[in-house]
Formats: sequence, C-alpha cells, structure tokens
Amino acid sequence: MKASELTQYKKSLLALRQKLVENVNFMEDEALGKSGQDASGDLSNVPIHMADVGTDNYDRDLTIGLIQNGEEELRAIDEALERIGNKTFGSCEECGKKVSKARLTALPYVKNCIECQRLEEEEAGKA
Ligand SMILES: [Zn+2]
Repeated sequence: MKASELTQYKKSLLALRQKLVENVNFMEDEALGKSGQDASGDLSNVPIHMADVGTDNYDRDLTIGLIQNGEEELRAIDEALERIGNKTFGSCEECGKKVSKARLTALPYVKNCIECQRLEEEEAGKA
C-alpha cells in the first residue's frame, strides 16, 4: 500500500477515534452521572467495565452496552493504527491476503478480509 493511502487511512482512523472517544465519554457521563448513587467518591476513577454495577435500569444497561461496543471499536481502531505503524495495515490477520479497499474505506479498522469475517461469523453463530 502506498504511503499516501496509509496517511489517508490514518487520518480517517484518527477522526473516527476522536468522535468515538467523545461519544463514549458522553455516554459514561450519562450512565454514571444520572444514577451515581452507587458510585463512591471520584467518578473519574470509576472503572470503565461496569459489569458488576447493579443495574435495574434498562436505559442504563443499554448505555453501558453502547459504551462497551464503543470501547471495542476504540481498541480495534488503536490496533489498526498500530498496523499502520508496523506496515501490516491492509492485510487480513487471518489469511494474510489484502483486504479490499472498499472494505477498508467503509471500515478502516477491520482486521479480517470479508471471507475470514464471514467464516468467523459462521463460527460464532454455531456456538
Ligand atoms: Zn482473510
């Protein structure tokens, strides 16, 4: 992949990351701020993974789900940025084939080609 293309993907990833961080922060405020009665002390120290926080509130569960999705996405973006750094970006992690540009443009943080993704989803479906 050309350096100019990598730069372009890097830009998209960073922009995406920025947006996602803002969203996740906002949702965390929503989830923690409004019903912070079971949070002790400094909210900025509340761990992000709140699986063991008592939730009888559907909205809050939903928000926490969204936060967790957002965090997974963030992780994927960071990994993609690493792959740009070590020049493996654009290759499928499973089979090593090149991921199609259309796929990378739509989802710059994907790590699998469409075939491997499909296989993975099939596997997940069976479980
Ligand atoms: Zn593959």
